[in-house]
Amino acid sequence: MEGAADGRCCDVAVESMTDLDDEQWMREALAEARLAGARGDVPVGAVLVHEGRVLARAHNERELTGSPLAHAEVLALERAGRSQKRWRLDDCTLYVTLEPCPMCAGALVQARLGKLVFGAFDARHGAARSLYQLCDDPRAPHQLRVHGGVLEPDCVALLQGFFQGLRERAKAPVTQP
Ligand SMILES: [Zn+2]
Repeated sequence: MEGAADGRCCDVAVESMTDLDDEQWMREALAEARLAGARGDVPVGAVLVHEGRVLARAHNERELTGSPLAHAEVLALERAGRSQKRWRLDDCTLYVTLEPCPMCAGALVQARLGKLVFGAFDARHGAARSLYQLCDDPRAPHQLRVHGGVLEPDCVALLQGFFQGLRERAKAPVTQP
């Protein structure tokens, strides 16, 4: 197909196929997020995918480990890097249920990640779109492709449900005799 080699002539078709894949992988990331929420960590999950195969799965483990660095994205990068014995992940896509914070966005750039797909936008901490655009800053030596808002309602509902539960538990002792 003429022009197909550079992918430009069929951007629309490729994008719609990619959207279906993106939703499939985001569901896997949501499953990871639920594991975190069930244990009392803010429910954020991530899967790192290479050529249709999951290289690493991770969820937020900040409460579990007591580490401020134990965000799902960082853990997924570490696990994939160690298992693959390579730090450069430019042929990989990370799916994460919440827009990365500045630390994680920086880690994605350090890993030279190929593409980031996230679910919920984060107006308070988001460093891929909302507050900063660290993942594709033209001044940086590496830019990754960024696609936000995939299965956003599901990702937002999971987070809202978690925080609502926390608030209700915090109120509970006051209402008890
Ligand atoms: Zn983070």
